[in-house]
Amino acid sequence: MPITTSLFATSPWAVALTLSGLLVVVFWLATAAWVFRDARRRIDDRRLVAVAALLGFVLPFAGPVVYLFLRPPDSIEERRDRRLENRALEERLAESDLRCPVCRGRVEAEFLVCPVCTTRLKQACGSCGAPLEAIWQACPYCATPVPPAAALGDVAPRPRRAQRTRH
Ligand SMILES: [Zn+2]
Ligand SMILES: [Zn+2]
Repeated sequence: MPITTSLFATSPWAVALTLSGLLVVVFWLATAAWVFRDARRRIDDRRLVAVAALLGFVLPFAGPVVYLFLRPPDSIEERRDRRLENRALEERLAESDLRCPVCRGRVEAEFLVCPVCTTRLKQACGSCGAPLEAIWQACPYCATPVPPAAALGDVAPRPRRAQRTRH
């Protein structure tokens, strides 16, 4: 084969040329393989991966450089992780999306009154002051029973207050 004959039978120049030619070919194949592997990691569409791999192969060195400019900035995995994170964040936001029944202003679960329109949202526990849900019969924080009047009072004023505010 030419390599062995050139190594032993020709001038040092020819040897150097053959070796550097070999190096160039190896480097070309390595960059083409890198383009294929990288494209597979970043691109979902098999046809586009094939196009990228072809580009890296048929245009030695220039192809991989062009691919570097055009490739998607992140991998398929990174995009999927980001989507999952966004969805989790949206779910967390939706959970905490409590609104005042009267003015639709954003309120928090511990609010006793709406800070915007002052509608009473919850009754405070007579003993520890914790905000109580309307259907609770006892305060879960200090075990004080909720007087029936207070429980009723929590439910009743809301519609009346609501009508007054709307007019
Ligand atoms: Zn309000
Ligand atoms: Zn309490």
